[in-house]
Formats: sequence, structure tokens, C-alpha cells
Amino acid sequence: MSAHSSDRRERRGISIGFTNFLLIVIALGISCWLILSTVESTVGYQEMEDATEAYIQAQKDVTQLQNASDELTRQVRVFAVTGNREAMDAFMYEVEVARNREKAVEDIESLQPSGESRAFVEQALKYSMELVQIEYRAMRLTALGLGMDETQLPEQVRNARLSDDEFAMDAEAKRKLARNLVFDEEYQAYKDSIRQSVAQCSEALIEGTKIRQTTSSSRLLSILRRQQVLIIGLLVTIAALVGLHLALVMGPMHRMVRHVKAQERVPLHGSREMKYLASAFNEMLDKSQRDKALLSYEASHDALTGVYNRKSYESVMETHHNQELALILVDIDEFKRYNDQFGHEMGDKVLKRVAGVLTSSFRSDDYVCRIGGDEFCVIMLNMRDNLEFVVRHKITSVMENLKPEKDGVPSVTLSVGVAFTEDVSDNSRLFQAADQALYSVKGHGRNGYRVYAGKDQA
Ligand code: GH3
Ligand code: MG
Repeated sequence: MSAHSSDRRERRGISIGFTNFLLIVIALGISCWLILSTVESTVGYQEMEDATEAYIQAQKDVTQLQNASDELTRQVRVFAVTGNREAMDAFMYEVEVARNREKAVEDIESLQPSGESRAFVEQALKYSMELVQIEYRAMRLTALGLGMDETQLPEQVRNARLSDDEFAMDAEAKRKLARNLVFDEEYQAYKDSIRQSVAQCSEALIEGTKIRQTTSSSRLLSILRRQQVLIIGLLVTIAALVGLHLALVMGPMHRMVRHVKAQERVPLHGSREMKYLASAFNEMLDKSQRDKALLSYEASHDALTGVYNRKSYESVMETHHNQELALILVDIDEFKRYNDQFGHEMGDKVLKRVAGVLTSSFRSDDYVCRIGGDEFCVIMLNMRDNLEFVVRHKITSVMENLKPEKDGVPSVTLSVGVAFTEDVSDNSRLFQAADQALYSVKGHGRNGYRVYAGKDQA
């Protein structure tokens, strides 16, 4: 009972099914989170790269603006000094067709820089535009000083505003004034303002890029830290899964296989499921052993009286065939009479009574067997000394016991034949000898006992 109830009790414990499910869900959750983090870090990295690329592009644009402005200065100065028409054409080409300054500003604005850098670059362009008006005037004055045909001049140059005094100047004065316009302090101040605005724009761009990169990199860093924690979590979860599996399933399973092979009870170890299996196996084993014991009891005992049956008698005799023993054959006198007078049931009761008295009168290591209808025998082992008086005493006591009527079962008398191994030439003849003694008692009026005393007596 205790084995079974403890089995049932120990079916409680960690359920590997549930634990596995839980750990797998955790591992899957962490894996999904890791995948999301990886996507996030890719985006973060891309942001950093974009910020760098935007910075490089904006710097290029700023340089382009500065170069275009310097190119205009160079061309207008060449025209003012030499009157070379090609220089004016190159100037106009830059202003009207190439438009490098405007393009640079548009490009910077498309990169969405900070408001500050945008303001600086627009300021630089504004100064440059104002300067171009001065440069148109200088070019018109130069063209007039050189006596060029005004109708051949570009529209902007032709329309450049000149005062009456400037018109009235002679050719040389006009050219001188033109040179002054593109070399004087005011012109230089404009150039310095353009350069300063470009430099301030550059600095603002560097500052803006730094801020963007710092924001992106700190975000990227926190994502990487999170990924580290998640990877550690994933490793711990996998280790827990493997560890639990080894401790709760694999180990107990190997032990279980060993015990099952040896047909032994399995100790209840491991997960609830393994304990359940072990306990189910134990219950089956117990039942099969109980069934086996019952079967072997039924096969070796007489169903009516509970003493050993004839088969057991034969196997005991065979097992102890070369030992010193005594065989006592007991036959109920006129047993048929009980059946005939009181019915078969009473006959059974008489048989049970005789079996009971025999069993209680002999030692527990003697074998009491029912070998025929009303025929019993007692095999007494280890009879090294011929203890005839002990046997006689026991038989007398049995007979005395059976004399009075008891519990409605009438008085019973017995005929008993005894044989000791030391009195027979061959143990296989022991039964014959005891039977001979019994037959002799029957022949002499029954209700008695006789010991086989060797061939002479027969
Ligand atoms: P004797 O004194 O010569 O031994 O005569 P007996 O009547 O005892 O011997 P006999 O061999 O003629 O009778 C044995 C009877 O036992 C025959 C049979 O019907 C009866 N018998 C055998 N087995 C059982 C049993 O299991 N139950 C009952 N009630 N009777 C049985
Ligand atoms: Mg009989």
C-alpha cells in the first residue's frame, strides 16, 4: 500500500512538458526580439551613414558655391583689366547656364541641413547676387570704355545701371572706374562676407552632423547593449532547456531502461512525466508479480484444504531425494462414509479439518501435502536421527485432536504409515515403504499407525 501511495504522491513534480513549452516560448520571444533589434541596428547604422554622406555632399556644395563665386570674380577682373570678350562670355555662362551657385544652394537645401546652415548658405548666395550687380556695372563700364557695340553685350550688362556722371566720363576713366569696382574695398568686403558665410555654413554643417551622428550612435549603442543582454538570455534559456532535459528526462530514462531490463521497480526520479511512467511501470510490475505469486500458489497448493498438492509433494521429494527424511502417509478411515451419510460438503469439511490439524501439529518447514482424495502425507526433512518417538508423539497428538466432534464435524480416525530413509535401500522406495506400513494398519482394523521397519517386516 505504501509503495503505491508514495508512487502517487511522487507523481507530483516538475512537468517537463510544461517547462519545455515555457522555455521554448521564452527562447522564441527572445529570438523575435533579437531579429527586431537587428533590423533596428541596421536602420541606426544607415542613419549614421546617411548623416556622414549628407555632410560630405553639403561640404562639396559649399565648396562649389565658393568656387563659382571666385570664378565670377576671376572672369570679371580679367575682363576689366584686359577687355577680353571671352572672359565676359565665361562670366555670363557661369551666371546663366552653369548656375553653379544656385545649384549648390538647392542641393544643400535638399539635404535638409539645420536651419542655421541653410541661413548661412542663403546669405552667401545673396551676397554673391549683390556682387554680380556690381560686376555687371563694371563690365558695362569696361565695354563702354573700350567702345564696344552695346547691342552686342548681354542683356544684364547692357541694362546695368550707370549714373549720368559715369556716362560722362572719358573712356580711360570708365575703364579705371570699372577696375576699381572689382578690386576696391567694397568688392573685397563682399568677397569676405561670402567667404565668411560659407565658412559659417561649413561649421554649422559640421555641428549638425555631429549632433545627428551622436544621436544615432548612442541609439545604436543602446541597441547593441540590448542585443548582448538578449543573446545572454537566449544562451541561458537554451542551457536551462538542455540541463532540464538531461536532469529530468535523459538521466531518469537511462536509469529506467536499466531497471526495466532487470525487471526491477524503477525509482521515481526526474520530471512528473518520467515519474508517472516509472510509477505506471512499477504498478504493472507489482501486479504481474502478484499474479505470478498467485499462480504459483495455485499451482502448488490444494484448492480445498490449502496444503501442498501432489505436484508439490513430487517436486519436494525430487529436490530432497538424497537427504535424510521421514515420510508419513495419512489416510482417513472410511472417508466415503461421511460423504454417503452427511453429504459431499461434510466430506470436504472433514478433509479441511484433517489438513488443519496436520499443519498445526508439524513444524513449518515440514511439508503437509494432499496427495489423493482422502490421502495426505507429511515430509519431514533433516531426520538424521531416527526420531521415531517424535513422529509417534505428533501422530498421537493429531489423532487425539481429531477424536472429538468439533464445530459440527464428526470424529475422524486415521490410518498412518511411516517410513524413514535410513530404513530403505533407495529413497525412491520411501513412498512404497510408507504405503506398505499404512496398508498394514488398514489391514489390522484401521485407526493406528505403523513404521516401516525394513524388508524383514514386509
Ligand atoms: P478406507 O477406510 O479403506 O480408506 O475407506 P475410504 O472410504 O476412506 O476410502 P475410499 O478410497 O473408498 O474413499 C475415498 C473417497 O473419497 C472416494 C471419493 O468419493 C472421496 N473423495 C475423494 N476426493 C474427495 C473430495 O475432494 N471431497 C469429498 N467430499 N470426497 C472426496
Ligand atoms: Mg480412506
